[in-house]
Amino acid sequence: MNIWSFASGSDGNCYLVESEGTALLVESGRPYVQIRDFLEAAGIEPDCLSGILLTHAHGDHCRSARYLSETHRVPIYASRGTLGALWLQDVSLARPIESGKTYPVGQMDVKPFAVPHDCREPLGFRLEAGSGRAAIATDLGWVPHSVARQFRDLDLLILEANYDPHLLHTGTYPYFLKQRVAGTYGHLSNAAAAEAIAVCGERGPRAVWLAHLSEQNNSQKHALQTVSRILRRHGLSHVALKTTHHRRSNLRWTSNVARERQLPLFG
Ligand SMILES: [Zn+2]
Ligand SMILES: [Zn+2]
Repeated sequence: MNIWSFASGSDGNCYLVESEGTALLVESGRPYVQIRDFLEAAGIEPDCLSGILLTHAHGDHCRSARYLSETHRVPIYASRGTLGALWLQDVSLARPIESGKTYPVGQMDVKPFAVPHDCREPLGFRLEAGSGRAAIATDLGWVPHSVARQFRDLDLLILEANYDPHLLHTGTYPYFLKQRVAGTYGHLSNAAAAEAIAVCGERGPRAVWLAHLSEQNNSQKHALQTVSRILRRHGLSHVALKTTHHRRSNLRWTSNVARERQLPLFG
């Protein structure tokens, strides 16, 4: 399994997950031309995508989804609430999905789960293949047990670490926006992200990408320091932490299953 972070944050989100020839774009929140360039750099033709997964219908997640889908005939997997907001001209490209069910797409199983966020039927995704297991959860106000359970036994978790409370409260956001970000249907703080990883204990993810960092109310340093301090307190300092970039493709993760399989050949 290969996973790329193309962009992550309120200016647009986009990730790519590939396993054994099945390539899924997760979110399509950057301009179309940029996503096409991201895909080209990863060696994937847009026509060859097996699907576009969307967590919810906020613009930073779905800005170019409809154009990409209709231009390249790629189906969109999303909740009915999200699909309804896209106004697809060709509804045959819509694949409505529901929390709690499993959807096989090529070589991968897509398992959506409901998250609390101020949008219609927002989802997170757990993605499983023979070559690895990953989950993506950004844009959620808090982490219910039903969501934290999805973080167990993962190779990689992409998890929102949106804000540092001190930076948010002393920052320039208007009061209503501060309330929205910190509310139960807003975004996750660095500490809340760390606690969600910690509750998984020994079954927690091996690696975590801290994602959807606010440019005003957070920094890579704040996110990494807070999360690693809390994980250390829980005896989980072995979890590998990285932060995504707002507008740049900066991370790629590869499961080592293929390498393990090859070992006997050379042994
Ligand atoms: Zn967002
Ligand atoms: Zn959102």
